[in-house]
Amino acid sequence: MVLYNTLTKKIEEFIPYEEGKVRMYTCGPTVYHYAHIGNLRSYIMEDVLEKFLRYVGYDVTRVMNITDVGHLSSDADTGEDKMLKGAKREHKTVMEIAQFYTDAFFSDCEKLRIKRPDVVEPATHCISEFIHMIEVLLEKGYAYRAGDNVYFDTSKVKDYYVLTGHNEEELMVGVRDDVEEDANKRNKSDFVLWFTKSKFENQELKWESPWGLGYPGWHIECSCIAAKYLGEHLDLHCGGVDNIFPHHTNEIAQSEAYFGHPWCKYWFHVQHLNEKGGKMSKSKGDFLTVSLLQEKGYDPLVYRMFCLQSHYRKPLEFSYDVLDNVAAAYQKLKTRIQNLQREGELDAEKQELYRQRFIEAVGNDLNTSSGLTVLYDMLKADMNDATKRAIAEDFEKVLSLGLTEAKETAEPQDEELTAYVEEKIAERAAAKKAKDFAKADAIRAELLEKGIVLKDTREGTQWQKV
Ligand code: AMP
Ligand code: ZN
Repeated sequence: MVLYNTLTKKIEEFIPYEEGKVRMYTCGPTVYHYAHIGNLRSYIMEDVLEKFLRYVGYDVTRVMNITDVGHLSSDADTGEDKMLKGAKREHKTVMEIAQFYTDAFFSDCEKLRIKRPDVVEPATHCISEFIHMIEVLLEKGYAYRAGDNVYFDTSKVKDYYVLTGHNEEELMVGVRDDVEEDANKRNKSDFVLWFTKSKFENQELKWESPWGLGYPGWHIECSCIAAKYLGEHLDLHCGGVDNIFPHHTNEIAQSEAYFGHPWCKYWFHVQHLNEKGGKMSKSKGDFLTVSLLQEKGYDPLVYRMFCLQSHYRKPLEFSYDVLDNVAAAYQKLKTRIQNLQREGELDAEKQELYRQRFIEAVGNDLNTSSGLTVLYDMLKADMNDATKRAIAEDFEKVLSLGLTEAKETAEPQDEELTAYVEEKIAERAAAKKAKDFAKADAIRAELLEKGIVLKDTREGTQWQKV
């Protein structure tokens, strides 16, 4: 496959360090609140990437951290720990908050068919590893102690800004706006590896360390957890674009300083899901969750399809109008696939042809919407139902849209009837739009006479035989 690499700013052929194996790391959620559907856009696209790599034959090991300590409310080292903020909001302990929102995150993932990574590791389980890595960085002269904290010295690395493609001044705007400078830092871009009691006295979770009672910075957790489970070389590192700076920039600095050699080959970043007012974010408090979409009547997999229809490197604006259109298309596609008969001989040549087309489409920098187009084209092509169903089942290994799974209550519909009812539904929708409610009601009655019941839902009009 070819993939855009944030590190080189080029679309490159994906060639892992070791043939046939992919060591993949994903920045996990900060579990102080529910994941919003923006966060989940990133995880959906990373899931498709992982599944695609498996589909084309790679042996993938994927590791994800759970941030349950150290992520301060500014991505720079200022403000309160986000976990503490969540605990105060809900009058619970930090660990209760972490457990609750970790479970909620994986429940959302399940609804969206996002596979659980092979390893999921909370930061609080790895304190001794963080301490060890920080000790090595101090020994090697990449870190220093100041004001009872330990800092990473960014002037010691050759190309600190390699991932960002921006200069220092551009990047500092926004990250450090209206926050006071930390006088302990030797360079503006230095960051904290370990905080002690000298700062943020009210931190709930603290651990003993060679530098005093304290807690780790956010960035060290990902370098350490990746090293713990994936070793000295990483093939692929993922996250949303907001992670590029400072988080991933700092991960590269720490890991390469620690190992003494280049670390991760490919950096995959998903653009943001935006609302009218800008980026969807947890700190705004009012954000969209999977449960909220469900309450409004949407199948979570409609949101997955919404994400798959656009390219991961383009910002995506959320709107209910677009989601409604996707819901209607999703329902139609699913019905079409479910109505495919299983009987018949499989056409192996066609299967291989469409498999290759699908690989070409999705393998082109994870172009999921082209992948969906191949699916639609295949359904229109000349081959028997059984072959079409088998190909759809095969694509589903990557798409995971639940297209081939029959709803428990759904019974196979014959194609002629489906076509007739869908035509009537479209006629009725047009009548309603033209405010011809008498006609709309007449269509409903006509169908009812034939034993067809209509139900208007957010996902469009659905029907059932009685
Ligand atoms: P967090 O829980 O804040 O640590 O974020 C979890 C993941 O979601 C990270 O990979 C972020 O980069 C990503 N993310 C945050 N906001 C958005 C958004 N609006 N759209 C897409 N991804 C996002
Ligand atoms: Zn991370």
